[in-house]
Amino acid sequence: MEYYFDNAATTAVRPEVAEAMVQYFTKSYGNPSSIYKIAQKNKTAVERARGQVAEAINANANEIYFTAGGSEADNWAIKGVAESYGDKGKHIITSCIEHHAVLHTCEYLETKGYEVTYLPVDEYGLVSLDDVKKAVRDDTILITVMFANNEIGTIEPIAEIGAFAREKGILFHTDAVQAVGHVPIDVKAMNIDMLSMSGHKFYGPKGVGALYMRKGIKITPLIHGGAQERSRRAGTENVPGIIGMGLAAELAVKELDKEMPRLTALRDKLINSILEKVPYSRLNGHPTKRLPGNANISFEYIEGESILLLLDYKGICASSGSACTSGSLDPSHVLLAIGLPHEKAHGSVRLTMGHFTTEEQVDYVIQELPPIIERLRMMSPLYEEILRKNKKGE
Ligand SMILES: *Cc1c(COP(=O)(O)O)cnc(C)c1O
Repeated sequence: MEYYFDNAATTAVRPEVAEAMVQYFTKSYGNPSSIYKIAQKNKTAVERARGQVAEAINANANEIYFTAGGSEADNWAIKGVAESYGDKGKHIITSCIEHHAVLHTCEYLETKGYEVTYLPVDEYGLVSLDDVKKAVRDDTILITVMFANNEIGTIEPIAEIGAFAREKGILFHTDAVQAVGHVPIDVKAMNIDMLSMSGHKFYGPKGVGALYMRKGIKITPLIHGGAQERSRRAGTENVPGIIGMGLAAELAVKELDKEMPRLTALRDKLINSILEKVPYSRLNGHPTKRLPGNANISFEYIEGESILLLLDYKGICASSGSACTSGSLDPSHVLLAIGLPHEKAHGSVRLTMGHFTTEEQVDYVIQELPPIIERLRMMSPLYEEILRKNKKGE
């Protein structure tokens, strides 16, 4: 039995989505750029998917450009604005808790003569509008702040930042890869100029995403070549992927009213039970301004990586706040940014729930996780010291 608690890393494709995609691999495989009927049918199907994706964020279909995922959309938005608006100014504002697709793109631009302000966040991971206001300069061309954080689940004040950016005439991009299909998004009401999303984070396929670009915004292409995507993103369309992403977006948004309260209840049950059962544990991220399916908890005196190994032994898939598995010994930049000292950041576990998560699965984690923490702490010299001190009443 598998208990999948890593929906922030990727999600399973919904069966109805997979089924809708199959015919575009095997039967309806024509290139949408070809002129015969069977290919033109695919062009129509791609346009239908564009409409589904647009509707999910209250955009117009002609403001959606399909990409090969969230990373490409982030790269395109930021590098595109930098290049197209670089003669107006070379200053970009972002936050220090962005996904690496944004952070590393900004760091790259710093080597090309751009200046980047990395806004701090508070203990919950929230960016403050005041800090955005203070950071703005005459040469600021872009504000890019994520909609919701992929590690700690904190939802940022996007509508407030959007209203301010619009008033100032500065372009506003948001990496909404964790938010689309999980919380309501309205690019018009929130004054969002550009938005990145990715199919595999809302039960669609991997390797397909989209950049929403408000009508009138013109940025240089990232991928040059053919005339696909109205000459702004070259490459033969990933027809099955686009069809799958469109349907997944429509289904996710249609079910938001049902899924948000269900997942919020599961999330809070998981968080509260673990915090109650395990001493020296704390929740990371905001208690309420957070993604419905995200729980991120630090356990003092032990390593996140060892917790993951023992969870895996019990069939539970989760992820940790330290990046050891990704080849670096540094704890996550997000956990450090909210003020966690290194040792607490190292003992963090992220459990992310989704469409296929059941209450029975949550109960299983609530049952299995506390003894794992206990067992690891019994092997920790640090914890032994704490117990000894507590006994002496120090
Ligand atoms: C997953 C993710 C990305 C990258 O998307 P891909 O489609 O995997 O390239 C970017 N930003 C955030 C916040 C993510 O969670």
